[in-house]
Amino acid sequence: MITRMSSLFLRTLREDPADAEVPSHRLLVRAGYVRRVAPGGFSWLPLGLRVLRNIENVVREEMDAMGAQEIQFPALLPREPYERTGRWTEYGDGIFRLKDRKGADYLLGPTHEELFALTVKGEYSSYKDYPVTLYQIQTKYRDEARPRAGILRGREFVMKDSYSFDLDDEGLARSYQAHRDAYIRIFDRLGIEYVIVAATSGAMGGSASEEFLAVAETGEDTYVRSTESGYAANVEAVVTPAPPARPVDGLPAAQVHHTPGTPTIATLVEYLNNQAGLGRTFTAADTLKNVIVKTRQPGAKDWEIIGIGLPGDREVDQKRLEVALEPAEVALLEEADFTANPFLVKGYIGPKALQDNGIRYLVDPRVVTGTAWVTGADKADHHVVDLVAGRDFTPDGTIEAAEVREGDTSPDGKGTLVAARGIEIGHIFQLGRKYTNAFEVDALGADSKPIRITMGSYGVGVSRLVGVLAEQYHDELGLVWPRAVAPADVHVVIAGKDEAVISGAEKLAAELDEAGVRVLLDDRKATPGVKFADAELIGVPSILVVGRGLAKGVVEVKDRASGDRQDVPVDEVVTHLVKLIRR
Ligand code: ATP
Ligand code: MG
Repeated sequence: MITRMSSLFLRTLREDPADAEVPSHRLLVRAGYVRRVAPGGFSWLPLGLRVLRNIENVVREEMDAMGAQEIQFPALLPREPYERTGRWTEYGDGIFRLKDRKGADYLLGPTHEELFALTVKGEYSSYKDYPVTLYQIQTKYRDEARPRAGILRGREFVMKDSYSFDLDDEGLARSYQAHRDAYIRIFDRLGIEYVIVAATSGAMGGSASEEFLAVAETGEDTYVRSTESGYAANVEAVVTPAPPARPVDGLPAAQVHHTPGTPTIATLVEYLNNQAGLGRTFTAADTLKNVIVKTRQPGAKDWEIIGIGLPGDREVDQKRLEVALEPAEVALLEEADFTANPFLVKGYIGPKALQDNGIRYLVDPRVVTGTAWVTGADKADHHVVDLVAGRDFTPDGTIEAAEVREGDTSPDGKGTLVAARGIEIGHIFQLGRKYTNAFEVDALGADSKPIRITMGSYGVGVSRLVGVLAEQYHDELGLVWPRAVAPADVHVVIAGKDEAVISGAEKLAAELDEAGVRVLLDDRKATPGVKFADAELIGVPSILVVGRGLAKGVVEVKDRASGDRQDVPVDEVVTHLVKLIRR
């Protein structure tokens, strides 16, 4: 196909859009691929839509190849199924809700587990029907708190979501593995640089959930990897290696000390080392910091105050805390909460007052039996020294809320952790029976007994991938598409006004088209300078310049990625380009 720039619906921009924070957003707008319509809402212009479709096709081919079957649901969904699984409430402000003319509640689908589970239940009833994997490539809606970076985090976006249905856990593990393999093929074909990270702490078993993260400095996701092993995980999924418990026998008794003016860890450590006269040296890691928050279960009216104890040299990581308490929401205490609970002495809170007053007390996994701490004595200007876990206080459990730091021991015991940033492009998840229980999705077994089906859910951010590829493939001049997704194979630039140059370029374009090459032909009445700048900006992998050299029988082939230029005889250039493209 030949696309003529003289009639292509395209305006490139010389200026960066004012709201663009990341290169992909800036370049996709400047090169005329997308246009912003609303916060997190973008329209796809012809070139952008081509890239999107190319990515979709790679995803579709690999999903079909693994035996998944494509179907399509509406985006406009009734409330009832989401009510049944609790997600109508759990999603909070995260989904778009609307009412029809009769006042019935609807939502715009953020993800479709409910509908797939119900559909399979409706069609299949025998064990002989299973396993089955279904997928769709569809527009999703989420009222993201912070839509950002153009199409990287939209409120309307295209997702491939698939769902596997199996009779048993082994089947689910196989379906999961099949998806994992398909995702590897998809992202490899697209040319993305990515890592696979453990996404959950593994509380649901081994590889219950993994994320594919595209490596990108501008990414919102921080992950950590080991310096020595293949371990990589989301920060939220890092399980703190707990030291072994120690004997409490023979440890000094706890003593309360007057520590005036020490409401912070820094002032406390300063005081302990220089003024307390204890004859020992303390670091922040010897102190136990108690952070008080409140949480509320979905749908509940009341908040529960909880205490979190962690070594004083670490801060609470808000995201880890939220994930640890999911699906409950978390908030900081307000002044009124302190007034209502006078036993919470700001700056001097200790485990004792919490436990005496029935406050749930969760500690960092490093706070094991036999560890001794300096912590608040629940009285202004007082701390307790040598308070021993398992002897002087017994936590109600552990919580992964402390920040993960570079240099921490890798959870697999091999090497230490280093941090990196990425963008989530895919997620595979062994859901188990949450949804099939909610909808009682059973198959009749060979023995006529019902078998509860187990489910997996798997997503790929199809429209986000356009942004991710732009993020990984660009330079200061513009976009540099990998061949697999480029909007055209060859960008033919007519560099001159001579009739011979124009007709020579037209002839080459026609021959390339004949050979099955997708041609973008710059036949506009513009200066070569403007045309070259646009060709760099648009980012088609090969640029064919037809200009003055034509009189001597040569044209120039430029590789967009490397910048290499090569003069090629006119009568060889079609073969030359076809070879490049097929390689
Ligand atoms: P994120 O952590 O980035 O919000 P998520 O965990 O909400 O992602 P899933 O619900 O697993 O994502 O959705 C599957 C895939 O859809 C993600 O891996 C991501 O690539 C894509 N995706 C999710 N939210 C958005 C969005 N707002 N805009 C574009 N793509 C998205
Ligand atoms: Mg999200």
